[in-house]
Amino acid sequence: MVKPRCTTGLLDGRARFRTALARWFAKSGKDYPWRRTHDPYAILVSEVMLQQTQIATVLGKGYYTRFLAAFPDLRALAAADDASLLKAWEGLGYYRRVRMLRETARAVLTDNRGVFPQDLEDLLKLPGVGPYTAGALRAFAFNLPAVLVDGNVARVLARLFDFAAPIDDAAGLRQIHEWAEALADPKRPRIHHAALMELGQTHCRPGEPDCACCPVERFCSSTRAASLPAKSRKTPVTKVTEHALWLRDARDRLLLHHERGQRRTGLWQLPTRDLTEIARLPVLSESLYSITRYRVSLIVHDGGTAGRGFRLAVDEAWRAPSELPDLALAAPFRRVIERLL
Ligand code: SF4
Repeated sequence: MVKPRCTTGLLDGRARFRTALARWFAKSGKDYPWRRTHDPYAILVSEVMLQQTQIATVLGKGYYTRFLAAFPDLRALAAADDASLLKAWEGLGYYRRVRMLRETARAVLTDNRGVFPQDLEDLLKLPGVGPYTAGALRAFAFNLPAVLVDGNVARVLARLFDFAAPIDDAAGLRQIHEWAEALADPKRPRIHHAALMELGQTHCRPGEPDCACCPVERFCSSTRAASLPAKSRKTPVTKVTEHALWLRDARDRLLLHHERGQRRTGLWQLPTRDLTEIARLPVLSESLYSITRYRVSLIVHDGGTAGRGFRLAVDEAWRAPSELPDLALAAPFRRVIERLL
């Protein structure tokens, strides 16, 4: 059904829009743990964790609670060693995020005497803190005015303003940010931004939105919501194949590789080999996983039991199955190893 275009103009009615949004959120907003706190550290952890990871995973699998139990404050995180840090993040992927989080904690401790700055410019000086994270800290920790645009908010704004141009080029991004700034509620930043994000996760979800029950439907200009937002770029998926070796020793320990200098640096995984080296070995397992724009086919070859005199390559070690729960293993490899064991 084609809706009539909003005639009053959303910007003219922004005060009523903000009130409608805030009222709906007060009644229907979800009770996430990071919404119960004003502690900038706990909010920063949630924001970093939720980059590229769904709320259901972060909460449902207990990552957020476990991480804060392991590193309850800036000091604990700043002092964390690589092994415990990666172990606490295991399964969330994008491990650079957690290393950068530790850098942020160290910078707040050393450069700001353990107190998070509130000023936007000072926040942006912290390592790993970009405009989005700085805005999230200002709004959610300090209830200060901020401009905050994530994927959900961009979609909601594109629909509210019936914006048919791509939102992922410079002009589109600029326009979306202008609208976000114009609509932002200076009196209740915390509620406003949380509500807008939640609207994008619920009624104004990707694909077919639920306009009939939307709390701000009367302010919305969208006539083709399901096809918005428009995007100009599609990142092509690249297929790659990884060949890994399953090798035990006479004591039934498993050969593992400790990754260094690569994207999984600090994590353990099965040693990978060039296909020419292990092509003749029987295949034990084949699985698929995705990472960024890669679709990886992981093939594990059975190397049997290593004979006497087998020499370990650099960064390889034998590990007993009983040690595996305490090691930070790359998630696709943990799944395969647990299945094969
Ligand atoms: Fe507009 Fe529908 Fe999204 Fe509400 S759910 S903002 S009415 S497109």
